[in-house]
This record gives sequence, structure tokens and C-alpha cells, in this order.
Amino acid sequence: MKRSYLIKPMLDEDYPIIDFGKGVYLYDIEFKEYLDASSGAVTANIGHGVKEIITAMKKQAKKVSFIYRSQFTSEPAEQLAEKIAELAGGDLNWSFFVNSGSEATETAMKIAIQYWQEKGLKTKTKILSRWVSYHGITLGALSMSGHAARRERFTPLLEDFPTIHPPYCYRCPFNQTAPECGYSCAQELETAIRRIGADHIAAFIAEPVIGAAGGAISPPEDYYQLIKEICDRHQILFIADEVMTGFGRTGTMLACEHWGVTPDIVALGKGMGAGYAPIAAALVSDRVMEPIRSGSKMVMSGHTLSANPQSCAVSLAVINYLEQNNIMNLVSEKSAYLFKKLQKLKYQFPFIGDVRGLGLLIGMEFVQDHNTKTPFPRAAAFTQKVIKTAMKYGLLLYPAGAGIDGIHGDAIIISPPLTITNEEMDELIQRLTKTCQELYDSLQ
Ligand code: PLP
Repeated sequence: MKRSYLIKPMLDEDYPIIDFGKGVYLYDIEFKEYLDASSGAVTANIGHGVKEIITAMKKQAKKVSFIYRSQFTSEPAEQLAEKIAELAGGDLNWSFFVNSGSEATETAMKIAIQYWQEKGLKTKTKILSRWVSYHGITLGALSMSGHAARRERFTPLLEDFPTIHPPYCYRCPFNQTAPECGYSCAQELETAIRRIGADHIAAFIAEPVIGAAGGAISPPEDYYQLIKEICDRHQILFIADEVMTGFGRTGTMLACEHWGVTPDIVALGKGMGAGYAPIAAALVSDRVMEPIRSGSKMVMSGHTLSANPQSCAVSLAVINYLEQNNIMNLVSEKSAYLFKKLQKLKYQFPFIGDVRGLGLLIGMEFVQDHNTKTPFPRAAAFTQKVIKTAMKYGLLLYPAGAGIDGIHGDAIIISPPLTITNEEMDELIQRLTKTCQELYDSLQ
């Protein structure tokens, strides 16, 4: 094993050293080409090496890279907050900038609790969430996450927030079918609220499309409208974790727009800086800010690098690039093109159980046989085999959990940069077909 002082995800594995990136491709120091079909971790939304972003980075770096938010504000931070308010719609007008998705969900959680405190309701501190969910790795964010593998080691330090089942139609936890089911998975929120007591609950948090924990599980049509209605009726805030789905990934600024739902608070991340700089945000509605503005007049959170001008300038440049190249509007067309080809693969290879998702956030769940939906045994580590085989063919895929507990199942996410062309999608499919064929042969 090569000696290295860098703590990598798997300490005993060698990782290729990437030299440069261009569009949807990355190249390592041995000139091997990788088609980035996952945008890294669903992050490089506009692809690699975009010169407009690099120009904006240089321009801001020459002016000033850092100022401390308790002492100054900056033009990029002010402009970014204004632009996001315009794009997010509704009354989601306030941005709190942070540096990662975990910080964004954790800030959202704190703002929700503070909101009720400012209104004199100090017992409303619990955040409800779902099993098969991921909201981040820091302890507050992990407390909200129904991701058993990531919680396990730290269980004694975590709050026991995750409560209800996900809207996972492929493996419905209630053995029902939408829409005839009447959305038992959403009704379960009502039951949980009655059991715990609305007086103790600040908010309910959910990913519009479940990412890392479930493999792009998209909900049935009316699910989020029902969730929002239940939250409103019980005076519970709805936090949409759009860290993965926001900033155009599903073809709209926020995925919640697909169902006509405006959350009370939104967490944004990943695509905000598109990998060019660390930046994320808690986006807060006028309604939620009002008692804070007229009460303590400060949000009790913050990080040294919050709202740094360098990251804000990058995010502004990403928005400009998305707008000038009409990128969000083209997502549904590209998604339809890719879905059709991925569905075809499902009929070619019996171990592809489900192809699902929204926009260019697509999940593929693997099973021993698609007629029985039986998952592979854990020991088979099938997802890892898919990832490694794809890597051999120069294709990057994102591993995800799956199964009703988010552990006993196998899935990947296919989420190329939104800028991908039809020819590049054909190339993606070719490399994926080779991957599937090799896996299929190995199972015979
Ligand atoms: N929320 C969601 C939905 C995510 O997918 C992730 C990361 O995968 C996070 C939060 C945490 O973001 P970060 O890894 O930037 O802390």
C-alpha cells in the first residue's frame, strides 16, 4: 500500500489522482478519462473547467477574498441573497450563507427552533424526519438523518428524530399502491405528531427526492401537498432539504416547485457553488424571519467563513451561467432522453429493479431478480461492485443506500452535469451497458 498522510474515505485503497477536468469529463495524471455521470457527489452541476466561473473567481480574488460577517458585508453576498430570493419565489427572501450542506440543514433546524422561541413557544424543539434520509454528517444534521450506517457509531450522542417511513413506492412500507393508498406514508406524519404532541415539535424536514440514503426516491404526485397541509394544520414548520435537489438539478430552482409547495425554510448546498467553491445556505421565508426580526434581531448561528465574498461571487457566476445558457429549462428534455435509455437497460438486465427520480437526479436500484425484488445479500457488496466496474470503464456513478431501512438494498445515482449533451449521454449509456454486461456475466 502506498504511504499517504491524507485521510481518504477508504484508507487501504488507492485513488486515481485527477489532473484536470473539462465539461463532463475528468482526466487523471495517467490521462485516463472519466465521464462524470454523478457530478461528483451531485455537485458539479455545470461541469468542470467552466471559464466564466474561473474568470469570476479571479476577479473577486483580486478584490478581496475574505471579510468577517460580523464586521462587514460585501457586494457578492448582498447580490447573491437578492438573486436567490428572486429565483426561489414565494416569500423565501432571506439567505443565511454557510459552507456545506450539513451546516445548511443544521442552521435551518436552529432557525426553526429559534422561530418558536421568539414566539414564546419554548417547548417546540424536536425536528421530525424520515427513516431513509440524509441531512448531513455533523451531529445536529445526523440527528435528523434516518441513515443507520452513518448514525450507528454516534447513536448515544444523537437525538432520536427520524420518525416516519419514506414515500418509497417501489417498496411501499404499507404494501399499498399510490394514489389509491391515500398516501399512508404522509398520513403517518399526522399520527407521529399526535403521539409526540405538536407542542414539542418545531419542524418536519425532508429531502424532496431522497438522495444518498435511498437512491433518488421521488415521491408520488400529491405527497408534499399533503405533508405541507399536515404541517400547517399542526403549526409545524416544513424544512425542505434541497441540498441535492436545489439549484436546477430537477429542472427548477427548487424541486418543491414541481408540486406547488413553498417550504418555510430551505437548505441549499452542492449545486450552489457547483464544486468551484464551498457555499451553502439556509433560505428562510418572511413568515419565519418576522418574529426574529421583531424579537432578538439576530439568528443564533454562524461560521467564520459564512458569506465570504469569494464563494458568493462563485455562486453568482454559477447562476449567471445557468441563466445565460438556459440550462434549467433544458433539464426535463435531457432527463426524458436519459430515462428512456435507462428504462431500456432495465429490461435488458434482470438485476436492475427500478429506475426512478426527477430531472437529472436518477436512481437505479439493484435486486437479485426484478420479478421478486429480492435484494442482494449485504456481503455481496453489489453497489460497490457496480461503482468499481463502472470506474474501470471510465464512468463515475454515485453509490446510494436503498431498501426499507436504507441499508439492505443497493442503488446508484446517475446525475451528470446539467450541461451534458445527447452525444455525451449516449456515451454514458454505452459505458453503463458495458458495466452491466460485465456484472451480468459475473452473476451467471
Ligand atoms: N442534505 C442532503 C440532501 C445531502 O445529500 C447532503 C450530502 O450529500 C447533505 C445534506 C450534507 O451536505 P454536505 O456533505 O455538503 O455537508
